[in-house]
Amino acid sequence: MKKNIKNIRCLSCPEGCVMNADYDENESRIISLGGYKCKKGISFAEDELNNPQRILTTTVAIDSVKSGRLPVRSSKTVPKSSLSMMIKEIKKIKVKTPVTAGEILAADFMGSGTDIISSATFTE
Ligand code: SF4
Repeated sequence: MKKNIKNIRCLSCPEGCVMNADYDENESRIISLGGYKCKKGISFAEDELNNPQRILTTTVAIDSVKSGRLPVRSSKTVPKSSLSMMIKEIKKIKVKTPVTAGEILAADFMGSGTDIISSATFTE
């Protein structure tokens, strides 16, 4: 069987393990995997095959005197294929100060099971 080795950086935590994945020639299954430090790496590599996931990051409007944009992110990973559609909807959110980092701005956003949360604190 032909070897099809790829390097994949796990994005599940800040550690960012670089894994070596040996796929079958159809890239439908992982034959062997190395370089991960926990089981989340295995799930991440498997998802990269069929349903890549990413943490969504973008900005939304805020009425702060310090900045017109508030950085936000998803509380969990979402399908990579949904990112642009979700970002388009998130741009409709307008936040009023005060807001704190970690505050939920939109729970279960679009029924995705992930919350959109503030990545920064603005008091004015
Ligand atoms: S394999 Fe585990 S430790 Fe490594 S980046 Fe992924 S979640 Fe973090």
